[in-house]
Amino acid sequence: MDAPENIAPLIETDAVIVGAGPVGLFQVFELGLLEVKAHVIDSLPYPGGQCIELYPDKPIYDIPAVPVCTGRELTDNLLKQIEPFGATFHLGQEVSEVQRRDDGRFHVATSKGTRFITKTVFIAAGVGAFQPRQLKVDGLEKYLERQVFYRVKNPAQFAGQNLVIVGGGDSALDWTLNFAQDGPHRAESVILIHRRDGFRAAPASVARMRELCDAMQMQFVVGQITGIEEADERLTGVKVTGHDGVTRVVPLDALLVFFGLSPKLGPIAHWGLALEHKQIVVDTEKFETSVPGIFAVGDINTYPGKKKLILSGFHEAALAAFGAAPYIFPDKRIHLQYTTTSPKLHKVLGVETPSFDD
Ligand code: FAD
Repeated sequence: MDAPENIAPLIETDAVIVGAGPVGLFQVFELGLLEVKAHVIDSLPYPGGQCIELYPDKPIYDIPAVPVCTGRELTDNLLKQIEPFGATFHLGQEVSEVQRRDDGRFHVATSKGTRFITKTVFIAAGVGAFQPRQLKVDGLEKYLERQVFYRVKNPAQFAGQNLVIVGGGDSALDWTLNFAQDGPHRAESVILIHRRDGFRAAPASVARMRELCDAMQMQFVVGQITGIEEADERLTGVKVTGHDGVTRVVPLDALLVFFGLSPKLGPIAHWGLALEHKQIVVDTEKFETSVPGIFAVGDINTYPGKKKLILSGFHEAALAAFGAAPYIFPDKRIHLQYTTTSPKLHKVLGVETPSFDD
């Protein structure tokens, strides 16, 4: 029987890395030096993990030999460093299943239906998959992705609509400005709702939002969404309770909620790995979990003396790569080589071997 068309092809590989935070990215490097090509999966639509999601512009001072760099610079440099190894990224999808197969390899599947058969798995999942924080109001779930959205994938779909946007951070303000100002995605109307008259977003965006309110191009309402209005299987409005205790109905075509992201261990808890306080127990020789062939590196793992620092994760990634090599190359002896002097490593890095004769 033919496979249904909507089933994604099966990817066979040596290594799957769950998480594209700094440690998952460096895992690509350490595997690359051993000539192992990796597939990297992250639930976020971009790499960088906490460094990008939580502190892109904050300076980090404790990366060895880098006196200072921001979260974004660290991520950009890691991406540059792993370029030679041609890892394949599968972003915007959560790894939902990891199961051992009869042949000793692992079946890995994501929320988007991407499927892998892999010899090894590296869990670099940090504090878990970042998920949008939900607006908890009865009856809202059934309109998800129809009229209620936690991410804007296609801004054009909201042009000309009556939009209610909720939140007080940069995402809420950026999308508010995008839809309320003249431009290709201008909405029919935009109402921003936030629980208080103070914002976490960039001051310039807040000032611009207030200008648009003064020019009557949009409205800002202080209050909390406490209920919904429905008609004919459609969401027609939200009930907003203000500080004065009065509840008003705000009509809408679409509701965009930006409450930030919160990490969730999620499906990892069901992969049969030994856990301690929601962290994966590993040894400190190979950073292997209780399931041979599955390794855990970075913030997600635990062992005596563990410190959740980027530099610890980098060390763990190096040892995990060596620990995994026998599963990938059972007949090969792996030797430690220096990137400075090894012609073989220069070849995998795509750089010239310097001459030391001079
Ligand atoms: P993360 O960065 O958390 O990345 C994990 C990734 O895995 C995420 O992108 C997540 O979406 C993804 N993921 C999880 N589960 C799944 C799944 N099932 N499917 C798909 N994807 C999944 N450390 C320092 O060393 N120095 C500092 O100065 C420093 N400053 C910090 C400042 C702040 C404000 C914060 C919050 C942390 C700081 N840290 C610092 C800690 C540092 O950011 C973490 O140690 C580091 O990010 C851990 O990297 P990681 O790759 O293990 O995990």
